[in-house]
Amino acid sequence: MPLLDLRHLSKSYPQTNGILRVIEDISATVEEGEFIAIVGPSGCGKSTLLRIVNGIVPISSGQVLYKGRQVDGINLECAMVFQSFALMPWLTVEDNIELPLDAMGVPLAERRRRTGLYIDKVGLDGFEEAYPRELSGGMKQRVGLARALAVEPKLLLMDEPFSALDALTAISLREELLDIWRLPDSPVHTILLVTHIIEEAIELADRILVLSAGPGRVLADLQVDLPRPRDRRSEAFNMLVDKVFSLIEERS
Ligand code: ADP
Ligand code: MG
Repeated sequence: MPLLDLRHLSKSYPQTNGILRVIEDISATVEEGEFIAIVGPSGCGKSTLLRIVNGIVPISSGQVLYKGRQVDGINLECAMVFQSFALMPWLTVEDNIELPLDAMGVPLAERRRRTGLYIDKVGLDGFEEAYPRELSGGMKQRVGLARALAVEPKLLLMDEPFSALDALTAISLREELLDIWRLPDSPVHTILLVTHIIEEAIELADRILVLSAGPGRVLADLQVDLPRPRDRRSEAFNMLVDKVFSLIEERS
């Protein structure tokens, strides 16, 4: 049974002069242990799709099955990493990471253990007492990542997590994410990452769902068979980039 099973999923919003179709008839599965990227142009419904998987946004039609059961309300086995980091400015790094654990009722000693562990894993040692305003974008996203990892989610949802970072910072954080995901004792095995950056999807994912411009439909479900670490300059990599580009262009 797949971890996540989307069946003929559609989402629309009523508007004063009709309805806005955001997602149309998306079917896809995510197996445990997979790193899946969803790539598509801005406005094609990527963030909406992640919110649906997380159970924050209700669907209009179709089914979302998690471990074979219909998602009903917020899925506590998911954690989200946001493009905008979404940190609480009045809390320290440590307290930001602990906040969801607190809400989940994780006992104090376990909260402290996980906070320490994931601060270490994302390279935030020494910044425990810092406030978000004192941190660079890259460091803020390390906090966002540690906060999500500390939940030890079955499914990690990432919404354009590297899009607000400068290019060099994005390169190192992508590599670090892969390193963490590939650790034998990794807290997360299954990742669903959305991005509008095609190269990012190809560098990271086992499989790529290519969405059309809004309303988002699945144009292709591509297996990425390149060995890791992936070389962005290789011919195979660039052929895949071209393929995804032409899929999106043809249908837009
Ligand atoms: P993406 O993340 O791919 O850029 P989004 O999922 O954010 O796309 O949005 C897709 C479309 O749905 C956009 O046109 C957006 O304006 C619209 N949309 C998103 N959320 C809402 C909402 N709560 N109410 C009305 N329209 C929305
Ligand atoms: Mg978005």
